[in-house]
Amino acid sequence: MSQALDRSSLLQRLQEPREWDLAVIGGGATGLGVALDAAVRGFSVVLVESHDFAQGTSSRATKLAHGGVRYLAQGDIGLVREALHERSAILANAPHVAQRLPFVMPGYHWWERGFYGIGLKMYDALAGRQGLGATEWLSSRRTRELLPGVQPRGLWGGVRYWDGQFDDARFALLLARTAAARGALVLNHCEAVALLREGADGGRQVRGLVVRDTETGIETTVRARCVVNATGVWVDAVRDMDRDEGAPRRPPMVAPSQGVHLIVDRHFLPGSHALLVPKTDDGRVMFAVPWYGKTILGTTDTPRHDLAREPAPFAEEVAFILEQAGRYLLHAPQRSDVRSIWVGLRPLVKPSGEDGENTKALSREHTVIVGRSGLITVTGGKWTTYRSMAEDVLDHAMARGLLARRPGGVTAKLPLVGAAPGRPQAEPPGDHLYGSEAGLLHTLPGAHHWLWRDAETGRGGLSEAMVRFAARYEMARDVEDVLARRCRLLFLDAAEAARQADAVAAILAEELGREIDTTAFKALAAAYHRLP
Ligand SMILES: Cc1cc2nc3c(=O)[nH]c(=O)nc-3n(C[C@H](O)[C@H](O)[C@H](O)COP(=O)(O)OP(=O)(O)OC[C@H]3O[C@@H](n4cnc5c(N)ncnc54)[C@H](O)[C@@H]3O)c2cc1C
Repeated sequence: MSQALDRSSLLQRLQEPREWDLAVIGGGATGLGVALDAAVRGFSVVLVESHDFAQGTSSRATKLAHGGVRYLAQGDIGLVREALHERSAILANAPHVAQRLPFVMPGYHWWERGFYGIGLKMYDALAGRQGLGATEWLSSRRTRELLPGVQPRGLWGGVRYWDGQFDDARFALLLARTAAARGALVLNHCEAVALLREGADGGRQVRGLVVRDTETGIETTVRARCVVNATGVWVDAVRDMDRDEGAPRRPPMVAPSQGVHLIVDRHFLPGSHALLVPKTDDGRVMFAVPWYGKTILGTTDTPRHDLAREPAPFAEEVAFILEQAGRYLLHAPQRSDVRSIWVGLRPLVKPSGEDGENTKALSREHTVIVGRSGLITVTGGKWTTYRSMAEDVLDHAMARGLLARRPGGVTAKLPLVGAAPGRPQAEPPGDHLYGSEAGLLHTLPGAHHWLWRDAETGRGGLSEAMVRFAARYEMARDVEDVLARRCRLLFLDAAEAARQADAVAAILAEELGREIDTTAFKALAAAYHRLP
């Protein structure tokens, strides 16, 4: 299955004069899910991503494959049940990048342990046979054993339950590569700049798109029977390309909501369990999750009106996370402890007539709209439900006669490239993320030449061979592609990522046969290390 993906041959395929069954715009969880499902059903598929796969929201999630305890509290039972079902597909199909993760909810009021325990028993019941482990009530002593970093003062006890954790950006890459192995043409750094609309006035149908290679500026017209707009928070810009000349702009579909994560060292939350506080004093969710030898603290839910590619955190968001972490952890992390800060935009769907100011109340369910022109727009949902969203999109395309009818359910038990038993993501990133491709990785030059190793454990890290693998098999085109999404160093330790930029650029330059500039990446890494 390991397929070298050479950009010039992929671009040549894009330029072939032909009509594709399906063209997908956007290479995040949603678009990649659609491309893979369609390719497995035997449709010819092209997908274009303007930046890198998962460069948008899909690399900035909390990385939980979960039903969503919070949505259970909001009474969104249908969404929770569906997501719990999808959670097990994620874990089964890519065990090298997705595993189960135990969570502990500490209780500081006498009623919390019982109250949350009952809710979580319901969570177990909704998962049914796909449950990952039974919810247990914990004494105060056991809570401290499982969560050595928890604030013991006033602790009544806790509840342990199980959910899933995955590497979002690497999972997205696996979707892209598995789709490619099934014949899809998937291209990063290629932007859809216009839609091809044909037919008499008033009856214009979308018949393809114009794609710009963002490395060369060369534009190519791509014809397709069905076009899917899966551009996350950016869907309204693509919908606008589908507007008749002189027609008014449609009201936006998406109300973006920003979520901030801070990364601190593992010693703030030693052990293998995550901590979740379902309702802080001001009604928000707070968690601390072990990830690749560090701890993720988060998150926030702040309405935001611009659609920045790299949204900046607000000072209030950082203060909230640090303040809450200080309340629930034995050692309060300080601003100087933050190794990286990253921000994602949730594509929440606005019911028509809403102004989207209360984003916490907006549904996390997805929406599919088929325009009069045949353009299919999909947005909302969660990473966890990407697969069922893809099925829904294809159902809409078939119902509208844009694609021939072919049975679904084809990706439910489809192992992704490299699928092999993995290790918990509490461990630093390393060879184990390559699953059955680890053997291939070790045949590349520099398999034992480590550019960076995890300081605390001396294990894992980033090798020269991993950079070569990223260029040859994972379509990495620049330093950011490697250090942000193939290896997650930018997200784990931004200052260390900046230090590695020149070494990575030198290897990439050899692989790609051109100079690689690191200026933009170093500026980005500085932003990931700067607190407001
Ligand atoms: C803070 C936060 C935490 C989250 N945590 C979780 C979690 O733990 N678990 C979970 O299940 N979900 C989580 N989510 C939700 C999940 O991350 C998103 O629902 C999902 O990533 C959205 O994927 P997408 O493909 O729709 O959007 P995106 O990932 O943003 O993908 C859209 C892509 O379209 C591309 N694009 C835009 N315009 C064009 C164009 N003209 N041409 C070509 N490409 C274009 C963009 O570059 C982008 O890559 C979280 C979200 C946030 C913000």
